[in-house]
Amino acid sequence: MKAMLLSEYKKLSIVEMPMPEVGSEDLLVQVKACGICGSDIHGYDGSTGRRIPPLVMGHEAAGVVAAVGNQVKGFKEGDRVTFDSTVSCGRCASCRRGSINLCENRQVLGVSCGEFKRHGAFAEYVIVPYNIAYQLPPQLKFEHAALIEAVSIAVHAANRTPVKLGDTAVVVGSGMIGLLVVQAIRLAGAARVIAVDLEDSKLEVAKSLGADWTLNPKAVDVVAEVKRLTGGRGADVSLEVVGATPTVKTAIDCTRKGGVITLVGNLAPNVELPLQAVVTRELSIFGSCASNGEYPECIEYLSRGDIQVAPLITATAKLEEGPAWFERLYAGEPGAMKVILQPAGAF
Ligand SMILES: [Zn+2]
Ligand SMILES: [Zn+2]
Repeated sequence: MKAMLLSEYKKLSIVEMPMPEVGSEDLLVQVKACGICGSDIHGYDGSTGRRIPPLVMGHEAAGVVAAVGNQVKGFKEGDRVTFDSTVSCGRCASCRRGSINLCENRQVLGVSCGEFKRHGAFAEYVIVPYNIAYQLPPQLKFEHAALIEAVSIAVHAANRTPVKLGDTAVVVGSGMIGLLVVQAIRLAGAARVIAVDLEDSKLEVAKSLGADWTLNPKAVDVVAEVKRLTGGRGADVSLEVVGATPTVKTAIDCTRKGGVITLVGNLAPNVELPLQAVVTRELSIFGSCASNGEYPECIEYLSRGDIQVAPLITATAKLEEGPAWFERLYAGEPGAMKVILQPAGAF
């Protein structure tokens, strides 16, 4: 089969690889669409230590079942599917508690980090255990279904946030995930959503996807504006989708006394925390990691148009164009969001 292999850091090429072996609980999926994730771009140069070569990356994908293992239930050849990026074991204490995203034997598709290595979906075929796969409705396009993994991160973040009908929410960071969080937190009950980003083009998309107000810290004092828009109190909930000291501080400073901050971004391993603000204003801080089985809801939201992903897709391209797209995204292609590769052709 054809695959895009990271043979050394910053070196991707299209190679022939042997067909993967199908284990008893595995699906062999012919990959119709696979998105390039920010984490692939950050891993590509070795800086995160999570893409140790040689590796086939890719964890945001959808396709058609080409073969099933002899213990697989509920899937057959020809089914249209997507799958979680987290491979959970279903047997450890976390999985048994219902937190599959916190699985103690957690692996991630298209990641190699020393503890494990698992080839991903920038290839004609990928192996996924059937417990992480989900059926797709016929009307949902593969290139949209490839974004369900990202949608699930936003829906999980909204689920982690104790938001109530009528609340005001601030979303700090309006990149790919932030734009999905804007939509998910609205569905979760936020009556007013304020999107924050340094790029006006992203704020425009945020507005088109339902943000009531957009704030650019280059142009306005974000905290003062949020206070002004909320009668001087601050937002009920804030979601931080960047993961750096200034943006975490903005999220905390925007939040009313007794309010909630959900942290999704984690670009920096450590940030400075305004401790006295958190303590004296009695703020609740939640972490949110990947998703915890929210795929069926996400598939429904996408099918019904409650969450829109089409405005987030910058380009769809052949697998052969993948290495060039990686270079462009790594160089910081202006305005680029999601690029989808089609390893098994554009059907
Ligand atoms: Zn991703
Ligand atoms: Zn587990």
